[in-house]
Amino acid sequence: MDNYIVSARKYRPMSFDSVVGQQALTTTLKNAIASEHLAHAYLFCGPRGVGKTTCARIFAKTINCMNRQPDGEACNECESCKSFNEQRSYNIIELDAASNNGVEDIKTLMEQTRIPPQVGKYKVFIIDEVHMLSQAAFNAFLKTLEEPPAHVIFILATTEKQKILPTILSRCQVYDFKRMEIQDIVKHLQGVARQEGYTAEEAALNVIAEKADGGMRDALSIFDQVASFCQGNITYATTIANLNVLDYNYYFRITEYFLENKITETLLTLNDIVNRGFDMGYFITGLAQHFRNLLVARDPQTISLIEASTEIQQQYLAQAQKCKSNFIIRAMKLLNNCDLNFKQSKNKRLLVELTLIEVAQAAQDDDESAGRCPAKILKPIFKLNVQSNASATTTTSTTTRPVQERTQATSAETLTNKAPVNTSANNVKANRFSISGSIKLQRDNGNSTNATGNQAPQKPVPSTPTTNKPLESNQLIMEWNLFAKALPQQETAMAKRLIDLASNLSITSNDNFEVVANNPSVADQLKQYKPAIEHHLRSRLSNANVNMNIRIREIDEKKRAYSRQEQYQNMCSMNPSLRKLRDMLNLDLS
Ligand SMILES: [Zn+2]
Repeated sequence: MDNYIVSARKYRPMSFDSVVGQQALTTTLKNAIASEHLAHAYLFCGPRGVGKTTCARIFAKTINCMNRQPDGEACNECESCKSFNEQRSYNIIELDAASNNGVEDIKTLMEQTRIPPQVGKYKVFIIDEVHMLSQAAFNAFLKTLEEPPAHVIFILATTEKQKILPTILSRCQVYDFKRMEIQDIVKHLQGVARQEGYTAEEAALNVIAEKADGGMRDALSIFDQVASFCQGNITYATTIANLNVLDYNYYFRITEYFLENKITETLLTLNDIVNRGFDMGYFITGLAQHFRNLLVARDPQTISLIEASTEIQQQYLAQAQKCKSNFIIRAMKLLNNCDLNFKQSKNKRLLVELTLIEVAQAAQDDDESAGRCPAKILKPIFKLNVQSNASATTTTSTTTRPVQERTQATSAETLTNKAPVNTSANNVKANRFSISGSIKLQRDNGNSTNATGNQAPQKPVPSTPTTNKPLESNQLIMEWNLFAKALPQQETAMAKRLIDLASNLSITSNDNFEVVANNPSVADQLKQYKPAIEHHLRSRLSNANVNMNIRIREIDEKKRAYSRQEQYQNMCSMNPSLRKLRDMLNLDLS
């Protein structure tokens, strides 16, 4: 290699169309150029390495092109384009405000705005990291920005939009660059690997893209580093070794141990991970992410939400089949709590080990013994999808509903089965049917399978003409926790409280659920959050009528050990004749 050029420079996009992952934005810019609607100043905001400077350069080249193409791109052939591509154009002047933020730097730059371009129409001034300019420099710049010469266009770039003064913001057209999707980066890296003649495993490129956190420049420099380490044969194993990334296999293996209740192996694996120099906090967030991936892998429709190679997606799909969804949710909750407490913990290792043991136990718990979690009413999380796919009958679904709900539903079903379709004109008749329906129901309770067997196959009841999905315990808890986690940092205390309260949720009807507050002050706090919580749940659970009832825990709910006297009083309140009996027989309490 005689003249090595880093990939980030070598494969820097030359046209708007080749910019990765910012399509909406580049189209807008192209249209603005085509219609000659150019502003005097642009502000490009967004994280590092997502193409801000690249777009600014393409923009400068395109507006100066003498022979613009019909698709709005520069021709790359005219004198102006050539000088841009060979980086000898005088029409583009770049200033990195991170290192040149003094007033003198800006003054020199502003001097140059006075000189009109020799070739082409516009001089473009790119000021990178503009938020780093000193106050005096800002003021000097503002003067020119207020009345710029006609041939001058400013492109300001920043990673921290909130630090830009309003006086500058109001004079700029603002473009927000977004983080790049993992898949976009992987695709681009595949292209680069092809052109360089490297072989690259998709899983390896995924790791690189993840590590780059949505920035292409970082992704390409990591890619270069790995490629030279692997000598052009980029495999998953060498990539994670080179980047010090924890192998996915650790998460898969440890989950297997959970399922098999192998606590010793779990703790030894943790030890192995720590010995390899990985931070335990990093491991816990990784494991939480693993369980989140398992959750979405339970449904083939959501598996695409896993940002990993297809091969690893298949691995998730296979492991998800082995895990009950209530185990996954319990694990997510435990790991999330561990994550929240990690920073404050004085004995981090103990916290992590304890959490792992708890997760392993959650894997062993049957529905009955899942502790505080309302496991009895947990249902398969993607039941609705499954049902519509497999066109399951209502009889199968009723068996999983709580008894009270089931009774109501069965009564409604019996009613519609017997009543003619247009009952509205004949209320009396309908009433009679409802009575006979409920009588029948009482019999049914004894032997329900027989009763349904006697009748024609039941059809789903079109009870109300709404499309609201009935509440599902798993989804409710999941969304509840997601709401809590999305709270801003200053509300961490409330977020923790909400997550703790997730085990106090219970669904009372299709649209209503109840949360039990431990004391009136918690109830007051919940009341403040009620509108926001309902709003979140309504949109996320596709039910516009979701209603949250707050109930304060009654004293006897947590205090169950009555004294004899209390037990007696309690029984009397349930059955007053007990008191009469005691008086009649003249009994004493021992
Ligand atoms: Zn040109």
